[in-house]
Amino acid sequence: MASVEITGLKKNFGAVEVIHGIDLQIEDGEFVALVGPSGCGKSTLLRIISGLEPASGGEIRIGGNVVNHLNPRERNIAMVFQNYALYPHMSVAKNMGFNLKLSGMNRKAIDEKVKDVAKLLELDNLLDRKPGQLSGGQRQRVAMGRAIVRDPAAFLFDEPLSNLDAKLRVQMRSEIKTLHQRVKTTSIYVTHDQIEAMTLADRVVILNGGNIEQAGRPIDLYNKPDNLFVAAFIGTPS
Ligand code: ADP
Ligand code: MG
Repeated sequence: MASVEITGLKKNFGAVEVIHGIDLQIEDGEFVALVGPSGCGKSTLLRIISGLEPASGGEIRIGGNVVNHLNPRERNIAMVFQNYALYPHMSVAKNMGFNLKLSGMNRKAIDEKVKDVAKLLELDNLLDRKPGQLSGGQRQRVAMGRAIVRDPAAFLFDEPLSNLDAKLRVQMRSEIKTLHQRVKTTSIYVTHDQIEAMTLADRVVILNGGNIEQAGRPIDLYNKPDNLFVAAFIGTPS
């Protein structure tokens, strides 16, 4: 895991600038939620950090090193999407080890790494199961485990729970919180759900129209919003 530092980040699509010079420092091990209305640039910002999309200006540092010129694999950042996309025909163990196998690690080292991570995530009793034999929460844990075995510098989440019903969403939320407490991997979590952001994150960043309106601890945003937009978004009583 590593710090993620963004300075003067800009993004244009053709003639249109959608991110206008963002500065954001995320500490090693910190959990930051990125919130804001639809179209404000949350997904674009994540895609730029991960290397899926080039920046138009500014700098991205991971663990202190500039990574603008590196591809996603070289940046070693794990993206977690809504759809966990486990391989249905492979066991939990095979799913978790798959990327390690692709990277050329030997069988024994893969088995050891998968076992260690499975133990950490309490998946050690489920290693022989297929994804179809798991609950939603367990599948999520396997997907996270598959990313963790590669020791990613950071986790990026793009609205991973938005397709779930309310009850499952609350359950998965606490699952993600527990995982972070165990592995402490630097995490940037995009959501349009303020409550999710406030309960999960060490720090919440409020984005609007490609700019940061305010960033701070949930309690500070709630008690001391910088402006009406933040107050309305967080739901501070006026
Ligand atoms: P969010 O995830 O906050 O809903 P996005 O990052 O998806 O917002 O989009 C930010 C802005 O950039 C929007 O105005 C969107 O229309 C625009 N945009 C995103 N991706 C592209 C693209 N590939 N080409 C052109 N415009 C894009
Ligand atoms: Mg989005």
